[in-house]
Amino acid sequence: MKQHFTTLCIFLTLISCNMPGKAPDKTNTTDGSNPLFEESTLPYQTIPFDKIKESDFEPAFEKGMAAEMEEVDSIVNNPAAPDFENTLVALEKSGRLLHRTNAAFNALTSANTNDNLQQIQEAMAPRLSAHRDSIYMNARLYQKIDTIYKQLKNLRLDPESRRLVEYYHQKFVMNGAALPEAAKTQLKKLNEEEATLSTKFGNQLLAAAKAGALVVNSREELAGLPDAEIQAAGEAAKHSNHEGKYQLALSNTTQQPALQSLSNRVTRHQLFEASWTRAEKGDSNDTRNNILRIAAIRKEKARLLGFPDYAAWKLQDQMAKTPEAVNAFLGRLIPAALAKAAAEAEDIKAVKMQEKDTTALEPYDWDFYSEKVRKAKYDLDESAVKPYFVLDSVLKNGVFYAATQLYGITFKERTDLPVYQEDVKVYEVFDKDGTAMALFYCDYFKRDNKNGGAWMDNFVTQSKLLHTKPVIVNVCNFAKPVQGQPALLSFDDVTTMFHEFGHALHGLFASQTYPSLSGTSVSRDFVEMPSQFNEHWALDSTVLKNYARNYKTGETIPQALVNKIRNAATFNQGYAMTELLAAAKLDMQWHLLSSGDSAVTDVDRFEQEALRKNGVYVSYVPPRYRSSYFLHIWANGYSAGYYAYSWAEMLDHDAYAWFKENGGLKRENGQRFRDMILSKGNSEDLAAMYKAFRGKEPSITPLLENRGLIPSGNLK
Ligand SMILES: [Zn+2]
Repeated sequence: MKQHFTTLCIFLTLISCNMPGKAPDKTNTTDGSNPLFEESTLPYQTIPFDKIKESDFEPAFEKGMAAEMEEVDSIVNNPAAPDFENTLVALEKSGRLLHRTNAAFNALTSANTNDNLQQIQEAMAPRLSAHRDSIYMNARLYQKIDTIYKQLKNLRLDPESRRLVEYYHQKFVMNGAALPEAAKTQLKKLNEEEATLSTKFGNQLLAAAKAGALVVNSREELAGLPDAEIQAAGEAAKHSNHEGKYQLALSNTTQQPALQSLSNRVTRHQLFEASWTRAEKGDSNDTRNNILRIAAIRKEKARLLGFPDYAAWKLQDQMAKTPEAVNAFLGRLIPAALAKAAAEAEDIKAVKMQEKDTTALEPYDWDFYSEKVRKAKYDLDESAVKPYFVLDSVLKNGVFYAATQLYGITFKERTDLPVYQEDVKVYEVFDKDGTAMALFYCDYFKRDNKNGGAWMDNFVTQSKLLHTKPVIVNVCNFAKPVQGQPALLSFDDVTTMFHEFGHALHGLFASQTYPSLSGTSVSRDFVEMPSQFNEHWALDSTVLKNYARNYKTGETIPQALVNKIRNAATFNQGYAMTELLAAAKLDMQWHLLSSGDSAVTDVDRFEQEALRKNGVYVSYVPPRYRSSYFLHIWANGYSAGYYAYSWAEMLDHDAYAWFKENGGLKRENGQRFRDMILSKGNSEDLAAMYKAFRGKEPSITPLLENRGLIPSGNLK
């Protein structure tokens, strides 16, 4: 039960929704046999997974890119003076086929992939990147947008439309539209190369994690693990041709869940090393050369775009706006986090002493002994908690129930819609007045053809302009129980489920005209706020009592256990915050390289120096992700953006403080949050939007208090 409040998800963005490429083969695109060519006729225009074949994707990408190019050309060639309708609204309406194709393709490549899909992905990534560039670097299109932007003061536009003008203008400038042609050509080349390398990184990492699973020969080596997990490890080994042995799969993060239970220190060390070196084995899955090149490309891109470093360029459209603001923010958290981690280390060393373990405290000891500290100090045993967290009840009586209490929405399962894998379920969402408003898909169990971590995505984005309602998916990696057993979750898993559903709420309450500003299309340092905010309800006593029932006895979770869970919420937060800050600083350091710096040639040395230089090198608290498996920053758009989780965490605790000040779980409170935050997408300045809800600027104090890094109520 580490990190109750730090469930981190990778918030996926669709592979860029635009593209150039070769000319369409017109003879081959009108036979009607490709379901992606036409808008889906299913409810909510959801994806016809039962009809789409893998061979449909490449033709759909080709046709989608060509169609969008034609649409863009007709905007550019329109002889009329550029105006909001003929330029920006027209852009918002363009690229439908490509959007549909991307949505379906991303669903499969992220959650149910295979070699063939990965090959298509690697082939398409540079094409899509180039296509995107051909739009965002189109000089004539930029000129039109710039003309409208310069007239903005005098235009009679509603606030969302004004925001759209500013959004497009900034996006075009950031993408290099205002650069001289020679620089644009260079930039396009770099973008294509980066897209290829990022995709390769993701696929290397998936392969590295799979190949890096720890295989041991005997049950004894897994001593301490619950029987069910040993049994699952035995089955996993069988599936990968290690019959008679035991296999532990690797999770995304540095620390591995089993490290909490494994009493054999040698096995713990092996498992940690398997995790730490997963992508540094000198084989085809070693990501280090890839990283060096991506970092160099980003440094060069920043120079071309006129910025001192990549972070300065990347942060301009975020709430934080500058690297200085990010570093100042992180700097305010580091001392409190390190002090708490040091105190936690003392507790752990004391337990080691008691057990006559005289070895130095290593990262692979931390979770094992901290679990003992927890039991001693907090008397909370994970295995005592799990029977109360049955997946189905957590979803329906917890996650859905809280949403009903706060926002008035209700849910009904639909078994008539196609899914991409048998474990996926679909629910229809109804508003407080019974209006059908959205579809919600969930795909909760771990598979080895699924990316690690958890995320939310839109299959269909809400837009009044396009007459679309949201279709949303949540994907997680919970352990699938063996046949006939209920799916029991850890409290971490429970929190993850609430977290991802917070993103889902942000998407399904969206009420925007323009798809580019809809729902979760907000800056990265804001997008995790609704999700992390939603985690708070997992521990709300009304909600908890409603979903946490023992699967054998039906007994509601005892109050004593609830208290223990709540007390334990501040446990280990020094460690959790420190590993997070180390990763955030590592990310910033890679993206603060400027053209004056000499080329980085050694990933591991750079990493060590970056951690030491920033005061976040602690021998027993490694970064949550190491450079070589830091998927967020090399492939998933969180470059110079990992801090965003903590930034958004400041906002989520601060927003929850507002709820506490105003009576907590109440419909009127939920309605206010829905009206002023969740339904607004990116239609207003986010800092102003938040301030209007809260009535003042966000404070860092609730974050520090909630994590137990400072005593409650002592610091302003
Ligand atoms: Zn998230």
